[in-house]
Amino acid sequence: MTDAPLLAKLRDLIQANGPMSVAEYMTHCLSDPAHGYYATRDPFGVAGDFITAPEISQMFGEIVGAWLIDVWQRLGAPDPVNLVELGPGRGTLMSDILRVARLAPDFEQAVSIHLVETSPVLRGRQQDVLKAAGAEAHWHDAFNQVPPGPALVIANEFFDALPIRQFVRLDIWRERAVGLDTRSRLAFGVGPGVLDDGPEAPQGSILEICPAAAAIMTEIATRVAHENGAALIIDYGHAQSGPGETLQALCGQSFSDPLDRPGESDLTAHVDFAALARAALDAGAAPHGPMPQGEFLNALGLVERAERLSAGAASEERDAIRAAVNRLSAAEEMGTLFKVLAVTPRGIVPPPFM
Ligand code: SAH
Repeated sequence: MTDAPLLAKLRDLIQANGPMSVAEYMTHCLSDPAHGYYATRDPFGVAGDFITAPEISQMFGEIVGAWLIDVWQRLGAPDPVNLVELGPGRGTLMSDILRVARLAPDFEQAVSIHLVETSPVLRGRQQDVLKAAGAEAHWHDAFNQVPPGPALVIANEFFDALPIRQFVRLDIWRERAVGLDTRSRLAFGVGPGVLDDGPEAPQGSILEICPAAAAIMTEIATRVAHENGAALIIDYGHAQSGPGETLQALCGQSFSDPLDRPGESDLTAHVDFAALARAALDAGAAPHGPMPQGEFLNALGLVERAERLSAGAASEERDAIRAAVNRLSAAEEMGTLFKVLAVTPRGIVPPPFM
């Protein structure tokens, strides 16, 4: 078996500089300009490594679109308003949102579209999809480059792709690092970093923190609190912070070892929704939820939408719609593990969090 091309590069880096943090390792694996996972491929869809909610069914983006229009009205219908998506993948969610926006001409008129995407391959894909939808959009490398003003921000399966730091409970919390074993294979070890204010936990426990997620949430919530707007964050993760290892690698729709074939599998970690909500609150905004995805979609009319789509459809199509509803909302599918966190200015409560 030939080595993954990124492996040679990582070995050189570790030999030169010593072990790297898990966050640095994740950054190389996902975003290396030549060999990073997202930088080099379109991983979505039935033939790809994973399928996301917007790729499962148009109903997902339609419900998110209707939510955005409703919330925009509650915010006083700011015009102009930036409609921002973080990590738009294939652009499917944004194009489904824009189809719904056509039914609300005031909203459609007010929005200017901003996509935050680091992968050149996926940017190209998003450009094609939005052009076909007749929409004009602007691309940025980071949220802080989006022009000032009110912002409606959506992020589906974006925060799970941000690099995490891991700590191992030994005498104290010590930072986990990726180094080389005696046969020059990548191996986990312990680096020089320590965590001072971690919780008590049994020896050997793992604790994950995601400074990048907290930093981006702080920027979004500051914008929402001071310039008006709202955010909808959808991802898999836990409602409470606490020890536990969630770093995972996915390749060809099955789990693999995160140190195996770097750059060729998707590396993610569960999102700590409590930490995101704290960051939003500290920045002066109001967090709502997290609420399980199934509950969110059902409260906003997933079943009714499915019935409307099914009316007059062929029986195969009706089966597909029923399967999509199940996939998006059933507890044993995406309904419970996936969660929805909304952020608004204080004093506003968006549906269905009331
Ligand atoms: N939202 C899409 C794709 C999710 S995958 C969907 O639901 O189908 C994660 C997306 O985030 C990809 O588009 C990836 O290229 C992008 N991404 C990952 N890290 C990023 C970063 N730091 N900044 C901007 N985009 C990033």
